[in-house]
Amino acid sequence: MANRITSLFGIQYPLIQAGMIWCSGWELASAVSNAGGLGLIGSGSMYPDVLREQIRKCKAATTKPFGVNVPLLYPDIDKHIQIIIEEGVKIVFTSAGNPKTWTAHLKQHGITVVHVVANAKFAQKAADAGVDAIVAEGFEAGGHNGREETTTMVLIPLVRAAVNIPVIAAGGIATGRQMLAAMALGADGVQIGSRFVATPESSAHQNFKQAVISTNEGDTLLTLKQLVPVRLIRNKFCKEVEAAEARGATPDELKELLGRARAKKGMFEGDLDEGELEIGQVSAMLRQIKPAAEVVMEIVTECENARKELAAL
Ligand code: NDP
Repeated sequence: MANRITSLFGIQYPLIQAGMIWCSGWELASAVSNAGGLGLIGSGSMYPDVLREQIRKCKAATTKPFGVNVPLLYPDIDKHIQIIIEEGVKIVFTSAGNPKTWTAHLKQHGITVVHVVANAKFAQKAADAGVDAIVAEGFEAGGHNGREETTTMVLIPLVRAAVNIPVIAAGGIATGRQMLAAMALGADGVQIGSRFVATPESSAHQNFKQAVISTNEGDTLLTLKQLVPVRLIRNKFCKEVEAAEARGATPDELKELLGRARAKKGMFEGDLDEGELEIGQVSAMLRQIKPAAEVVMEIVTECENARKELAAL
């Protein structure tokens, strides 16, 4: 499976584990990297000293490349960037912000930079900002999402046509067949989030993991579009947001309803009623919690087998 994504990161398979707040710490990132993919620490839910500790633990747990995902809308970004540089991390995925802000600075320090986008226009902007690759994330994805509602099926060909740098497909990918489909659409690799939430190595609360593997079709919703669009499981809190939006709540009213630390409450503390539960549509296909290395091997093997099957067409 060698291609320009495997050579860009120095990994075995073009399979990246998404950086996810409250779910992807050093245990998950190192497990995925050790299995031949690229693991990412999700820094958005970490205070600066926690991020430093997580990076150090990841370095101790793997000799393979790993990266850090920095969602630019979260606090203390400048401190996070400084720590990433000081700790010698070589790969950074930025998201939820302007790629111009940090790309040049990171690249000056020899860091490979990837930016996450949800439409072709921002893919072009990210390429102009000098990033090394793009994650194109479709409407199916969990957590923060684009406003355009472009599905992965449509987004990947659009982004492929817009830029020449490597494209990593995300949103709605949890199996080898989905990985192959994304590559057929023009992606050079895939980024997978939801599937890795339901692993023993993920730092998500057990209640959340169980909720993820119990989710059915139609159980997630892209909501809070007036603030930052986010796909959530339709629990009590999400239904309150839905009702508020239906009666025309203002952004300020929605902010008040959101309050503080809902994401932590749901995904890390396991409050399935009051917390935010960020997961992708593909959770409807997940029924088991299994080790990250097993997940990587299953996806890669299924992708290879499906490719051979289709070669006979
Ligand atoms: P909140 O802003 O509600 O609360 C911050 C959370 O992040 C707390 O759980 C806090 O932990 C943790 N945290 C980690 N590092 C830091 C840090 N350096 N400084 C402060 N808090 C930190 O968090 P959300 O995760 O819900 O949202 C994050 C950002 O996204 C905010 O800017 C928010 O306005 C924006 N946003 C989020 C939406 C969403 O759906 N989640 C929607 C709209 C906007 P602790 O509790 O231990 O202090």
